[in-house]
Amino acid sequence: MLASYALPVEASRGRRYPEPPHPYRDDFQRDRDRIIHARAFRRLENKTQVFTRRLSDHFRTRLTHTIEVAQISRTIAAALHLNESLVETLALAHDIGHPPFGHSGEQALDKAMRPHGLYFDHNLHALRIVESFEQRYASHPGLNLTFEVREGIIKHSHDYSAAEHPELAEYLLDLRPPLEAQLIDHTDEIAYNTADLDDGFEAGLLKLEEVRRGVSLFDRYLRQVEAEFTAASAKLKFNEALKRMLNHLVTDLIDHTKERIRQSGVATVDDVRQLPERLAAFSPATDAGRAEAKQFLYRNLYHSETLRPQKADGEKIVGDLFAYWLEHPEALPASYQKRAVEQGAPRVICDYIAGMTDNYILDQHRRLLKR
Ligand code: MG
Repeated sequence: MLASYALPVEASRGRRYPEPPHPYRDDFQRDRDRIIHARAFRRLENKTQVFTRRLSDHFRTRLTHTIEVAQISRTIAAALHLNESLVETLALAHDIGHPPFGHSGEQALDKAMRPHGLYFDHNLHALRIVESFEQRYASHPGLNLTFEVREGIIKHSHDYSAAEHPELAEYLLDLRPPLEAQLIDHTDEIAYNTADLDDGFEAGLLKLEEVRRGVSLFDRYLRQVEAEFTAASAKLKFNEALKRMLNHLVTDLIDHTKERIRQSGVATVDDVRQLPERLAAFSPATDAGRAEAKQFLYRNLYHSETLRPQKADGEKIVGDLFAYWLEHPEALPASYQKRAVEQGAPRVICDYIAGMTDNYILDQHRRLLKR
């Protein structure tokens, strides 16, 4: 059933520590299950996507966002005859390296690292989680995932230069990732662009007319829905239009990627890897609509006055605690103190904070900084 340009599990470069095959799960299915059973995956439940849990239980968390990305990714993988298990695994792992407090937490951690000549990158952090921080097996450190899953964790959203990242040399940095990994960045964006409109509307921060003026893809489907369902409530019209917008983005990504596959003439996954550009893409018209929706969300939601205090609060908490542990490394858990001697305190404090849930970091802040 797989297309010739898909990545069959038999072609996997395998695991760092060889393991005997499982009787009825293939290696990518096992990797998916390892991600789901990881502690870092469970913590996604308590990490902010856009809205903190303090506002409402209806809004997406990083866990429910991840499940939506997995759903959309599987649909597209099936339509393109790609390896669904690999795509699902990569989707479930794609945000596992995110710190607490969404993007404000990420920015604050990066800012705290810069004076030490270091930085924070959530993809690289995700790799460290699956390679060493998850301790579940007596026989080896980390989750011992297949090469393709580790490669996809690194390369799903952008390429890393081999000159800047010699530590990633094994991940074929001069080659494109397989289509299964290429999809994830786009499905992630389909998921959050639509879900954040939904949550923003539900929160009362975005108005129907404002969304229609700022997002032409949404407006196109709202017009259809208004003509079809004259008596429906504004909320149902909103939901229906948003659902059609999501469907448009998914269908366009499938169709345009299919077309690019055909035009490129790729026959195998190695052909996909050798191309100078990634093949998974929206059509130019839909890509413009996607970018417009994203800009709208930045202007009207992520950078809105309403969310500004939440954002500033998250940045302050991360910054305060980073500075506190830098000054008091003896207050870190014993295992981190030991690693701080080997790897330097900034890196280890960054790892510690990045692993925290929103709840846990708030508790730490209250406990240590008496707030
Ligand atoms: Mg994401």
